Amino acid sequence: MNPIESILQKYPAIVLDGALATELERRGADLKDKLWSAKLLIENPEMIRQLHMDYFLAGADCAITASYQATLEGFMRRGFSEKESIELIRKSVQLAVEARDEFWKDEANRVGRPRPFVAASVGPYGAFLADGSEYRGNYGLAESQLMEFHRPRMKVLVDSGADILACETIPCLIEAQAIVHLLKEFPSVSAWISFSAKDETHISNGEKIADCAAWLDPFPQVAAIGINCTSPKFISSLIREVKGKTSKPILVYPNSGESYNAEKHDWNGDTFCTAFGEDARQWYADGAQIIGGCCRTTPDDIRAIAEWAR
Ligand SMILES: [Zn+2]
Repeated sequence: MNPIESILQKYPAIVLDGALATELERRGADLKDKLWSAKLLIENPEMIRQLHMDYFLAGADCAITASYQATLEGFMRRGFSEKESIELIRKSVQLAVEARDEFWKDEANRVGRPRPFVAASVGPYGAFLADGSEYRGNYGLAESQLMEFHRPRMKVLVDSGADILACETIPCLIEAQAIVHLLKEFPSVSAWISFSAKDETHISNGEKIADCAAWLDPFPQVAAIGINCTSPKFISSLIREVKGKTSKPILVYPNSGESYNAEKHDWNGDTFCTAFGEDARQWYADGAQIIGGCCRTTPDDIRAIAEWAR
């Protein structure tokens, strides 16, 4: 049984963590780099471990690893050997596992909640390009090329001890299809598939989220379907679109509502949310059972979700 299924048998909701990269920046890390948060795997892994711990303490049932932008190809372009690159990707999982084990060692942390699980982040091809195309999805690649891109990192992550794969910020159905077909090569693992969306009904490249959910529904290795790194204002509608098309649990972890400027490597615009935790309660009422935050959300936002979800 995958960790999502087993927790949802006993609890009504699963609380995910919040932002990794933007929170590390808020804490002073310099991530203006194509490797983004993966840069810290090299420079300051302790800072990542501490942030995972802070999210568990805030109430997260899950840590999403710092492997979103970590790919063998990306590290090797920066002069690392293949072996070193594999080690760095493994390290992203180890840091989350260590934080989880340390957190769970303390009996006081176990009251009324499930043992947290570790989701290994599988960022989209666009995250490797580091040009913001994970919010557009117009790669122009064939499914087989996307499978080739995803295969080596997925293999490392599957072997690393993560409990599930978090395939996230996927902007186009063809990339989800490539990932799901690739999963068959790793039959022991489950994954969630989470899209970035551009409005109330469409994922980033313009396909209907309802069609994407319907396509994913038959695959047993897909543990949950959802939306992340999308403005909170679209989330209620997107949940309703997904709900009619799948019986799988629905996950949502929107960003703060600001938009990402890839050129300046910055976020701008107003935040939509004044009370992320309260909006999240509405998403639960709409039918999402797995709820957290993406870019620009903080441990306080996660605490606000855990307060009503627990
Ligand atoms: Zn995000």
